[in-house]
Order: sequence, then C-alpha cells, then structure tokens
Amino acid sequence: MGEYQGTFILPDTTELPVYDEVDVLVCGGGPAGVAAAETAARRGRKTLLIERYGFLGGAAVAGYSGTICGLFYASDDPVKDGPQQAVFGWTDRFYRELIRRGHVTEPQLYGKTYLVPFDPQGWKEAAEDMVLAAGVKLLYHTSVVGVIRKEDAFTGVVIDTKKGFAQIRARKLIDATGDGDLIYRAGLPYTMGDNGSIQNPSMIFRLSGVDVRAFKEFWGEDTISPDKVADLMKRARVEKGYELPRLKVWIYPTNRPGELFMNVTLISGEDGRNLNVLDPDDHTEAERRARKQVREYARFFKEYIPGCEESFVNDLSCEVGVRQTRSIVGIERLTNQDVAEARKRPDGIVRCPWPIELHNGEKPYMHWLLHDYYEIPYGALVPVEGGNIITAGRNLCAEHQALASCRVTAQCFEYGHGAGVAADLSIGTNRDFRQLAGEEIRAEMDREGSKLD
Ligand SMILES: Cc1cc2nc3c(=O)[nH]c(=O)nc-3n(C[C@H](O)[C@H](O)[C@H](O)COP(=O)(O)OP(=O)(O)OC[C@H]3O[C@@H](n4cnc5c(N)ncnc54)[C@H](O)[C@@H]3O)c2cc1C
Repeated sequence: MGEYQGTFILPDTTELPVYDEVDVLVCGGGPAGVAAAETAARRGRKTLLIERYGFLGGAAVAGYSGTICGLFYASDDPVKDGPQQAVFGWTDRFYRELIRRGHVTEPQLYGKTYLVPFDPQGWKEAAEDMVLAAGVKLLYHTSVVGVIRKEDAFTGVVIDTKKGFAQIRARKLIDATGDGDLIYRAGLPYTMGDNGSIQNPSMIFRLSGVDVRAFKEFWGEDTISPDKVADLMKRARVEKGYELPRLKVWIYPTNRPGELFMNVTLISGEDGRNLNVLDPDDHTEAERRARKQVREYARFFKEYIPGCEESFVNDLSCEVGVRQTRSIVGIERLTNQDVAEARKRPDGIVRCPWPIELHNGEKPYMHWLLHDYYEIPYGALVPVEGGNIITAGRNLCAEHQALASCRVTAQCFEYGHGAGVAADLSIGTNRDFRQLAGEEIRAEMDREGSKLD
C-alpha cells in the first residue's frame, strides 16, 4: 500500500447535508475535549461535542490510563510532605466530582509524587453529566474526517456516521482528538515525536482475585515497582522464557476489592521496531501484540508476585493506549529546556508539576521537578496557520521530552479549559485565536479558579 491521502478539505460552498450549525465545535471527547466543551457551553456558547466512541474519556477511559497524574507537586520526601495540590481550575472541579461520587481512591504514592486512581465507568458518567448540565449537545459514534475551508479559515467539518457523510458548520473548531486529526485533515503542519519515533504504547488491564494486603506487603506503598521486581522479571526471562520487555512497571490498587490496575506492558513491533500507530497496519499489530503481552505479564504476576497467586485478568482497555502521535506546529512551542528549568511565563495558562516520564525501552526515563512546576503557554495550543481553529490536549506543540511530561490528564483538562475560554473570547471580541494574548486567557482561567497567580 502506498501513501494515503491525508487532507480532506471541502469548499465552503459544499452541498453536503448540514447536521448542525454551532458556535463551538469540539472534536474528541477525551479529558481535553470534555473540559473544552463544558467550558464553552457554560459560558453561553452553543456547543457540540463529537466523539467516535459511544462514551467520553478518551485514553483515560477507553485506554484505561486509570489515574489522574499531574495534580500534585513532587518532593524529595513525599511521604512526609503528603500530596500537595498544584493544579486547580477545571481539573479540580472534575476531581471533586469524582470524589463526591466515590469514583477515586485516596492519592497513592508514585515515586516522588502522588496520583489518583479512578473508576473508568464513573469517569464516563461524571463527564457526561457535567457536559450535559452545561448545555453541550453530544454526538457519539461520529468521526470527523474532513474540514470545510473558506479562504484561510475553517468554517466547519465533515463527519462520517452510519448514516453517511454530513457537514457541521461552526464559528470555532477545537481539535481535541489527541491525534490532531483536524490539523491533519486540514493540511496544517505537524511534527511527530523524536524525528518520527514516538513513545511506546501500552495496554492496561485489571487484575482481579488479588490478595491486595499480601501484594502490598511485598511491593510496598510506592505504585512504581521496586527493583526486586525487575530482578524477578529478569529471572523469569532466563528460567522460563517469559517475554517481559518492560522491567519497571506501575501498579495501582483500585477502589474495588482484590483488584489492581496494571500499567505494565510496552508494545513494539514483532521485529522490535517502534510502531507508528497512525498507520493502520502498525496499529493493528500493536493491538494484537498488546493482548498477547497482557497474558504474559498476568502469568508472570500469578507465578512470581506474592498476593497474585489466585489472580486473573478481569478485563482489558478497549484500545491499546497511545501516548503520543502528532504535535501541532504552534505559535509557541514548549521546549525540553522549559521543563527542565521549570520556566514560568506571563502567557502560561497551565501549570505542570509532573516529571518527564518517557516510555521507551525497558525502564521509562524519569526526570523529576521537585517542589516546582513549569507553565505551558497559550500559543502552544494555537496552530501557526489556519483561522478559527485551536487544539486542546496531548496534540499541543511541544518537544519530544517535554511532551512526555505535559501530556497527562490534569494538564489535558486545563488545556481544554483554556481552549474553551479562548473560543468564547474569540467569538465575543471578534478576534482570531492568534490575536488573543495568553495573559487574557490566564486571567480568565484564574477567574474560573485555576489559581495561576
Ligand atoms: C498507556 C497510557 C497510560 C497513561 N497513564 C496515565 C495516567 O496514569 N495518568 C494520567 O494522567 N495520564 C495518563 N496517560 C495520559 C492520558 O491518558 C492522556 O494524555 C489523555 O487522555 C489525553 O487526553 P486528550 O483529551 O488530549 O486525548 P485523548 O484522551 O486521546 O482523547 C481524544 C478523544 O478523541 C476521540 N477521537 C479521536 N479521533 C477522532 C475523530 N477523528 N473523530 C471523533 N473523535 C475522535 C477519541 O476517541 C478520544 O475520545 C496515559 C496514556 C496512555 C496511553
């Protein structure tokens, strides 16, 4: 198979049937899309949220990422300091809603910081209730496959449903597809990882029938595996031929009895190559190999890890979890140095205290920011070309290692919050996204509780 046709741009005069006309159209219902849609609708804009699956949550739910990372500061003595929250605003609203509904555990220790495991079913329900309460119209089982252009600006999208193709007209478009699908269809520039090489995907699963107390006695309080686990994995490789490509793994007890969330796999191609999950052949290979690897790790845990003797795979995420694909080329770029130096800036709209957590190879590379955070500028969400369009979520403009930090859920909620605010301001003041200043978005997000100043 040769190259695929990427762009799909129809002229503004297209006669495709019109499904709807809205102020703000949010494409993708992951953490960023949910926050963007809720924010735009709550601020009075007619908002439509399109999602290709039949539920909200994106990689957090369909990919079972399973925890909110990026909420708390890291510390050289996290046990003494306890979880200290650094990110507020929309993220905090959602976190409080999950607490209210009983869908999260207490914060759990993760290396030098904390994270919060959640129930994916509860996440779906909370998000759906919140967006509907704000007045968002939801459209599930609908994929965005193209854009409608008038001169330099985008005036709508082309959707594909079981009924066929249609168009949706919108004053503002928010690309929250994670993969930057709108940007791609529109032919706007993007980059991809480290010269095309992206972080490895993982398939996450739930292990049930676990004696969690015995497990924790062996494992300890830290959800990151102790070194002795890597030693056991190496032994299992040699003694019994286990295929365990990842030696450092994350495991979280959930709020269900006897259950662990297992972030342990590392998926690459049959021949060891880095898979490009935007290519359907590679994506298929990733899903196929991921399921096999889940069985291998589950077998290892049952045989080698105390507390897991009676364990079994309860269920798998419904898709292989994809950490990284396209990053837009934005008017600002978050650099690796910005992260390493914990750079703050007046046009920063989101705080990030999360470490660089780069999944590539046997042990993910970690670089911690202690008692500190950096800020992501508004311009990292705004494409260099094209009017009426902004992104939200992990497809923002960032260098490879920087993205390995700023892509987590607490930040994605706040990118959505910022994009929703920007869409509203852009309509209200009749200015393009590129004409808005990060400082104004920051001030407005502060008014909505983001506590950036
Ligand atoms: C294996 C793995 C483990 C992770 N672990 C954690 C963790 O423990 N804690 C944490 O905070 N973060 C974690 N993350 C990161 C986190 O899940 C993601 O960064 C976050 O979900 C990204 O949010 P998003 O809204 O940008 O994109 P996504 O979550 O990818 O959402 C995009 C949404 O758009 C929809 N969509 C895509 N294309 C189209 C289209 N063309 N038309 C219509 N809809 C479309 C998708 O179905 C999806 O719902 C993990 C990620 C992975 C992959």
